[in-house]
Amino acid sequence: MTRELSHYVNGEAVSGKSGRFSDVYDPNTGIVQAKTPLASAVEVSDAVAAAQAAFPAWAAMNPQRRARVMFRFKDLLEQHMDELAELLSSEHGKVVADSRGDVQRGMEVIEFACGIPHLQKGEYTEGAGPGIDVYSMHQPLGVVAGITPFNFPAMIPMWMFGVAIACGNTFIIKPSEKDPSVPLRLAELFLEAGAPKGVLNVINGDKEAVDALLEHPDVKAISFVGSSDIAHYVSHTGAKHGKRVQAMAGAKNHGIILPDADMDQVVRDFLGAAFGSAGERCMALPVAVPVGDATADEFIARMVPEIKKLKVGISTDSDAHYGPVVSAAHKVRVENYIAMCEEEGGKLLVDGRGLTLQGHENGFFIGPTLFDHVTADMRSYTDEIFGPVLQVVRAQTLEEAAALPSNHQYGNGVAIFTRNGLAAREFAAKVQVGMVGINVPIPVPVAYHTFGGWKRSAFADTNQHGTEGVRFWTKIKTVTQRWPDGSVDDQSFIIPTMG
Ligand code: NAD
Repeated sequence: MTRELSHYVNGEAVSGKSGRFSDVYDPNTGIVQAKTPLASAVEVSDAVAAAQAAFPAWAAMNPQRRARVMFRFKDLLEQHMDELAELLSSEHGKVVADSRGDVQRGMEVIEFACGIPHLQKGEYTEGAGPGIDVYSMHQPLGVVAGITPFNFPAMIPMWMFGVAIACGNTFIIKPSEKDPSVPLRLAELFLEAGAPKGVLNVINGDKEAVDALLEHPDVKAISFVGSSDIAHYVSHTGAKHGKRVQAMAGAKNHGIILPDADMDQVVRDFLGAAFGSAGERCMALPVAVPVGDATADEFIARMVPEIKKLKVGISTDSDAHYGPVVSAAHKVRVENYIAMCEEEGGKLLVDGRGLTLQGHENGFFIGPTLFDHVTADMRSYTDEIFGPVLQVVRAQTLEEAAALPSNHQYGNGVAIFTRNGLAAREFAAKVQVGMVGINVPIPVPVAYHTFGGWKRSAFADTNQHGTEGVRFWTKIKTVTQRWPDGSVDDQSFIIPTMG
């Protein structure tokens, strides 16, 4: 009998009632290991009611007490790191070392949220007029929700609920139906850390649950991370229902290699950034842009033998560079893009299709794939592939190279490899992309800065975590107060009016 997962509402595991389920696979074997319940609108409404009931007391709790829950939660994450990483790998397929990184990067946002007493402080002006002071407060919004993708099932929920809950909101996570067990476990640990029941809830589901959250009048804000078409839909539908929404989306990140770059570092970095986690990262580096044919030829000559040495293995294989992709459907999609790039005229140098692992013949494995002579008009270049596929687009000048990420529909991350500080500085200032790495292949900002892309990589006015996160999850109230002391000056003070 297949194991049945649950929702997590008001501090308890709650069985699904809709009668609809989605399969959770072990990507290493292709076997269905569990079923996720897909919530109905009524089940979503029950979770919202639990979060709503928990809100007044949580919002009223002083910020250092909320921070203490975050400190304890961070300790529990450290204690349970191995368990969480193994659970994550078993549903996602990434190797355990990558899963530890997933938990670690989420935990860093919790560390950031431990500083909430300072982060949530408002501003104060004494004496804006006679006897008049002005101050502002950052107040929580109420019940808020996060809808998350499959590829970082620990980090991305924590990007959202870490900051939102620290600010005094109560939260509902709607995780990816492909790997919901880590978010469920995080909710249990959060309760163990001392959070009151109903502060963090998990609702599993698909479009029906997402729509129910988008339409529910008591849900005040929604943060979404996933693919661009759905992000666009969530952003518009949420706004139509009067919600504050931020929706982070797809990506196709470029790594520009100048002729003076340290090629040893470039090769090492591309092996990790293009193929690590089977390329299923929104900050992966699936496009290399060497400047000049000599740079391109050297890059390819150095990459091909290294790519052939990469070990694809099951996610518990500590020698494996990366594991399977998340689903059979995604494997087919990636392999179709490889065929498309070939048909479009890309020169296939290493073909990862048709890889099977002995003893794991039905696992969702794809070998590393390398294309040369990819051009900007190819659909396989303009689309996000989200697999272990590296496309080389040759450019003759830095200007030509820099135009590629700037003109691309996505603008999440970009990297430049060079020893020329001035060139790098100008590139960083001008490129039309949200996150830039200079000799850093995956420039994911640390938790106390903020994460977010441009163009079709984010439908959002605010980024994830950092002070932007605090701004997204709170509303500002500005108070102008007057305590007259009866003096003439005081009586004659007139507040400026529109007229
Ligand atoms: P996805 O868009 O398929 O799913 C994301 C979420 O949306 C899931 O919770 C899913 O259940 C829900 N969903 C799916 N179909 C829906 C529909 N029709 N209506 C409403 N909700 C729906 O994304 P995914 O495959 O889980 O994740 C991979 C994508 O996420 C890639 O495009 C990747 O680039 C992107 N991503 C972006 C960032 C970022 O910060 N920019 C980070 C990680 C992943």
